[in-house]
Amino acid sequence: MDFSDNPEQAVFRRRFRAWLSENVPPEVPHESDAREAAERAWHRRLADAGYDWLSLPKEFGGQGLPESFEAIFNEELGRAGAPLPLGQGHLARAIAKFGTPEQKTVHLRSLLEHTKRWCQGFSEPGAGSDLASLATRAERFRGVDGAVRYRIDGQKIWTSDARYSQMCFLLARSEPDRRKHEGISVFLVPMDLRGIEVRTIVTAYGSNEFAQVFFDGVEVEAGALLGAPGQGWEIANFLLGFERGPADNGWIARMRRTIQGLEERLRKGELEVDAAGRIALARAEVALRVLEIQAQRTLSKRMGGDAPGAAGSVDKLLLTRADRAVHGVMMDLLGAEALSHRTPRLDDYFWSLAQSIFGGTSQIQRNIVAQRLLGMPRK
Ligand SMILES: Cc1cc2nc3c(=O)[nH]c(=O)nc-3n(C[C@H](O)[C@H](O)[C@H](O)COP(=O)(O)OP(=O)(O)OC[C@H]3O[C@@H](n4cnc5c(N)ncnc54)[C@H](O)[C@@H]3O)c2cc1C
Repeated sequence: MDFSDNPEQAVFRRRFRAWLSENVPPEVPHESDAREAAERAWHRRLADAGYDWLSLPKEFGGQGLPESFEAIFNEELGRAGAPLPLGQGHLARAIAKFGTPEQKTVHLRSLLEHTKRWCQGFSEPGAGSDLASLATRAERFRGVDGAVRYRIDGQKIWTSDARYSQMCFLLARSEPDRRKHEGISVFLVPMDLRGIEVRTIVTAYGSNEFAQVFFDGVEVEAGALLGAPGQGWEIANFLLGFERGPADNGWIARMRRTIQGLEERLRKGELEVDAAGRIALARAEVALRVLEIQAQRTLSKRMGGDAPGAAGSVDKLLLTRADRAVHGVMMDLLGAEALSHRTPRLDDYFWSLAQSIFGGTSQIQRNIVAQRLLGMPRK
């Protein structure tokens, strides 16, 4: 299989690399609020330069380029050590696929123009891995004006960036009489509605990007429902396939940059390594190479029109393994240098630990591989 660039891809890569060499901002700050502001500003700059929504179809306001351009874009960002873009593309794809013409006009535009930030209200205290057990209710009722509305009550947790978001892509149970997977719907909910409370969760490493979000009698118009009542599970799976897939290429290139940086410093004698360190470094290199090949394979399938689906779980598992290996050996080799003060490297290390949890834990990914790819019976 030949994964090298074709002439158009090569031109795009050269042009973007040249642009990056002039425009990459200094490392983003660690403090969450400052980080959010810096990442938004960076995203705007990319958009203003025309590096935005590359693979979203033209009919929805994207540039309609093949997914390979998206991968090149992410790869070059990672290679340059630039901040990665805000990951909202999977939400745009879901709205483009399942939305009404009005939802597409209103919400796709706000996503495309970056006028609104979105968060994802899926997990609950009693429904993480077993997401289909979610208990947040959306009860249909007719208002005094005769219009159909939904009243939302419940609680979400681990909602990334809720404190910065103006919209929530919310999963709630609207059809309590149906089987659990069939009773869930998606609602597109403005975060400034009466009855919504966002409580920040400060993590062990001092970040405040997570929140609990409480919904207490929140009323939304019927037009907030995305797709049909009870279609939420299908929409969530469609979206998660894109969240886990080769869009991670930017992270892979960033890991490659980290490994190359370590190897260079070892060759120059700036770092010391013992026998165990050499083995760990070799393991990280192998894990990264396997991941790079798998990401290319997935990308070529995706360009052939295949949605990522359950196979995205293989990528996620390989990504997690490589991430742990690369950042584990990085911490061993850098030692006190990485720990003495908050560095982007330390943030990358913490992120590598979270990698096995968000978007579905590694155990759940293995279940998906066993049951949906290999056809093993459920236990
Ligand atoms: C960085 C980060 C960002 C996140 N962002 C968001 C967000 O924006 N929105 C959102 O809704 N959620 C978000 N989450 C939450 C995330 O989706 C959940 O943490 C995850 O799905 C696991 O759920 P849980 O924490 O409730 O763990 P649990 O489901 O309680 O699992 C606990 C342990 O049991 C294991 N386990 C559970 N069930 C099984 C099973 N059937 N077979 C084998 N093992 C099992 C799990 O693998 C895990 O090790 C985020 C999490 C992280 C770390």
